[in-house]
Amino acid sequence: MRPFAFAAYAVLASAFVFFGCGGGASRPPTPRRSEEIRTAARGGVDRRALDPKASPCEDFYQYACGGWIAATEIPGDESSWYRSFSVIQERNEEILRKVLQGLARGEALEATAYGKVLGDYYASCMDEEAIEKNGTAPLASLLAEIDAVEDTPSLTKVLGRVQARVGAGVPFSLFGGQDFGDAARVVGMIWQSGIGMPEKEYYLDPAPKMAEMRAKYEAHVAAMMKLAGDAGPKAEAAAKRVMAVETALARAWMSIEDRREPRKLHHTATRAELPKLAPGIDWSTWLEGASAKDVAIFNVGMPDYMKSVGAMLSGTVTIADWRTYLRWHVLRLSAAQLPNAFVAEAFRWTQALTGAKENPPRWKRCVRAVDEGMGEALGRPFVERTLGEEGKAEVLTMVRAIEAAMHVRLEKLVWMDDATRRAALEKLAKITNKIAYPDEWRSYEGIGIDRGPYVVQAQRASAFEYRRRLGKIGKPVDRGEWQMSPPSVNAYYEAQLNEIVFPAGILQPPFYSTVASRAANYGAIGLVMGHELTHGFDDEGRQFDAEGNLRDWWGKSVVGEFDRRAACVKRQFDDYTVLGDLHVNGHLTLGENIADLGGLKLAFLAMKETERARRSDREPGYSSEQEFFLGYAQAWCCRMRDEELRHLVATNSHAPPHLRVNGPLSNLPEFAEAFSCKAGSRMVRKDRCEVW
Ligand SMILES: [Zn+2]
Repeated sequence: MRPFAFAAYAVLASAFVFFGCGGGASRPPTPRRSEEIRTAARGGVDRRALDPKASPCEDFYQYACGGWIAATEIPGDESSWYRSFSVIQERNEEILRKVLQGLARGEALEATAYGKVLGDYYASCMDEEAIEKNGTAPLASLLAEIDAVEDTPSLTKVLGRVQARVGAGVPFSLFGGQDFGDAARVVGMIWQSGIGMPEKEYYLDPAPKMAEMRAKYEAHVAAMMKLAGDAGPKAEAAAKRVMAVETALARAWMSIEDRREPRKLHHTATRAELPKLAPGIDWSTWLEGASAKDVAIFNVGMPDYMKSVGAMLSGTVTIADWRTYLRWHVLRLSAAQLPNAFVAEAFRWTQALTGAKENPPRWKRCVRAVDEGMGEALGRPFVERTLGEEGKAEVLTMVRAIEAAMHVRLEKLVWMDDATRRAALEKLAKITNKIAYPDEWRSYEGIGIDRGPYVVQAQRASAFEYRRRLGKIGKPVDRGEWQMSPPSVNAYYEAQLNEIVFPAGILQPPFYSTVASRAANYGAIGLVMGHELTHGFDDEGRQFDAEGNLRDWWGKSVVGEFDRRAACVKRQFDDYTVLGDLHVNGHLTLGENIADLGGLKLAFLAMKETERARRSDREPGYSSEQEFFLGYAQAWCCRMRDEELRHLVATNSHAPPHLRVNGPLSNLPEFAEAFSCKAGSRMVRKDRCEVW
């Protein structure tokens, strides 16, 4: 769910949505929020959310959501607010809070697996008094190791140590991941990391907005260094050095667009070959520091980046600058677990990025931290409280209906040749469905969390995850594993496991409701299912075969036709602007837009089939087709701060919410027919795109 945690580990998983950003001040939920949660809990078409004055054929998003938008304010601790995702997340977090409060008080410990550890982790996060009293003392030994760096060998060792201690490496990181070429094995992935701003453009783009961000970031680095004890001028000089090192890293950084192209990321190397792909680094020393001496097979995701890092480590950056850089990153990675002055400073930077007005209350930050660190332990009491077996069975029926619709589409698709069609059908048949929660829960044996200093517990949680992933290298792939925790309000397709996954968190109103009409459910959760399924066949997913291997299984002429069709979608989104002159990135968002367009077609087809088979239960006043499209659009009703919108366009592979409604719907004849939209209206594109 969190952009960075998820993106770093799940190299090629395509999530349904990314939203929200971390952030520090206390505030109880407002009554308006609770009221909204009750309304949304019903699911189906929400008439109060409509804007009846808007024309569905000119701006369907406004028609479906205008009433809600006019009546809704973004809570101060959020950068955006969705009628669906945010409301469900709020509800889920209240449930998790009660669970964790009980465990922290020592209640139901025997009945809950890892109950004591969960309670301790939450309690250590909530113990503000101890956090204030401890200050940065719990980091002292790691910071002393950094201070003691005096040459390249000791620097290399400490870089590895930071990876093992904090669970996150800079300026590159290591984690276990499936081999692109052979999905049956797990290799050591070496990945770029270690810049504190979201993407390279933040360092290099001359646009005034980006220059403004750089100034704010540098001030933020200086402020953190001051909090950690540096005198004013020293802290400011340190921030300048950090900027210089990170700008050099950013220059070599692989762009976000290129990172969506698996072939550019696929560079396997044995331990002996590693220095060829990533020269200038004493790998024995680094791997020893990272407790990863035994890893025998690697994939270097970004060899050009690693070459630059090698040169920087071999002397183009001074040892003193590396010490400053490392000290900064340890503070940056730990800020959320340090005293409130650090939390507030970290939030000031979040604020610059997203526009949020205040930090979420501590309890919420603590719930999120436990979910991030021990999501599958926290997920067990969550699913016991939220999802009945009946719901799971109905959801599975819907997934099967969507898959059947894809089968029908593939058989009829005119631009496929027979060989490619057969391979596509095989891939479809082999897709695994995971619904609600894992069959086998993950073990947290040995995580070592207690009620000691919070920053230490957080390090233990992420170091545990680092070791867990490393431990998979050389072993058969665990096909039962989940990459999101059950309470996540999200879903994903994982290309290398060829699977679609729907956590319990999203299987709730307004996405899925037992009292809403089937048509509205198909428009909301059905679209999510169709979207994830289509990811298996988008510009990125289509490069993997039924077994999850990066392999070209497409006929030449079929590829040409796919590319031509994908280019239509790319052009469509390149043409959209937000905030006046900011263009949506058609290349970056291509996979998601193909998935939305294909997913809508599949969900619509499945809905029609189901309608035929069963008695209609639609709401009075709408046809089931209209309900379907309203169910879809209302899942996207959203208000977003300008800063967050800018941040999303620059860093996110998903287009802004209103365009995820009007963009794909204006391509669909089924939509135009449902609302009797005539040629020439804005929701009926002249140059209609269709991929799947
Ligand atoms: Zn997606």
